[in-house]
Amino acid sequence: MPLSPASAGGLAGPMRRRILALAAVLLLLVALLLPPAAAASASGGWSWPLDEPRVGRRFEPPAERYGAGHRGVDLEAEVGAVVRAVAAGRVTFAGPVGGVPVVTIDHGRERSTYQPVEARVSVGDAVSARQVIGTLLGTHSHCAAACLHLGRLEGDDYLDPMDLLGGGRFRLISPDGDPPPPPAGTGGDLARPVGGPVTSPFGMRVHPITGVRKLHDGADFGVPCGTPVHAAASGTVTGSGLAGAYGQRVVIAHGPGRSTSYNHLSRRGVAVGATVSQGDVIGHVGSTGLSTGCHLHFMVVDDGVPVDPLPLL
Ligand SMILES: [Zn+2]
Ligand SMILES: [Zn+2]
Repeated sequence: MPLSPASAGGLAGPMRRRILALAAVLLLLVALLLPPAAAASASGGWSWPLDEPRVGRRFEPPAERYGAGHRGVDLEAEVGAVVRAVAAGRVTFAGPVGGVPVVTIDHGRERSTYQPVEARVSVGDAVSARQVIGTLLGTHSHCAAACLHLGRLEGDDYLDPMDLLGGGRFRLISPDGDPPPPPAGTGGDLARPVGGPVTSPFGMRVHPITGVRKLHDGADFGVPCGTPVHAAASGTVTGSGLAGAYGQRVVIAHGPGRSTSYNHLSRRGVAVGATVSQGDVIGHVGSTGLSTGCHLHFMVVDDGVPVDPLPLL
């Protein structure tokens, strides 16, 4: 017999009390099983900055300052998704760093960083946990798809955001996604070394890690680690090895005065002295050296001076 409110109201006292008690227990259970967004921040943890978090590439701390690493966690989402503060705090930065729009929130002992985000807050704003601070941008992402790179800083040290997250439901996805299609045919003297978007062009910028304003001496292509890198033109390999902030690097000389280099590689595929043809795979994309995540830093040097590669491609 279906139990309508009217018939429940007509039940005897003890039965009615038992049903009410059962309902209370059920409500409590439902409350306990729901994603504990508020509970997470109350216990000192962080709440997810996205409503449907899909966890991609995890935190990979570099062994040394210039070591390979991923200084945060990537959360995939649709372009335009709302981005929320992981905990209460104060906005200390909202603007481009190296061309990438970043929001930083100071929580006291720690800071959280969000990129690429179109900010809806300003420096100095107090924010509460889960407050919307902006929307996810489709450009300037170093993931294969649109994603939020969430960082956790204590002083100058990068820590794993996942240690504080994890409350509620999230979905794990393939960290690197599919590599973009290989570069299309050449439009200029040089061929593109990889497909994918230009995430940071050549020119003056504030360095995303050091914070120093200086010349960005190449163009960055946002592609997953492991993507094959192709020689931009035929030539002879004159450098193949570790090169400080440039990480694993291959240099190719192409003729009088011109060379190209391929930086932050995970693997180098050619040795010094090798002859390469345009389009040959000379290594794979990585995040070695001073790098915040997987990308190719591509350089063209004419007579010892770095020039803008993009007009030449
Ligand atoms: Zn990232
Ligand atoms: Zn670069």
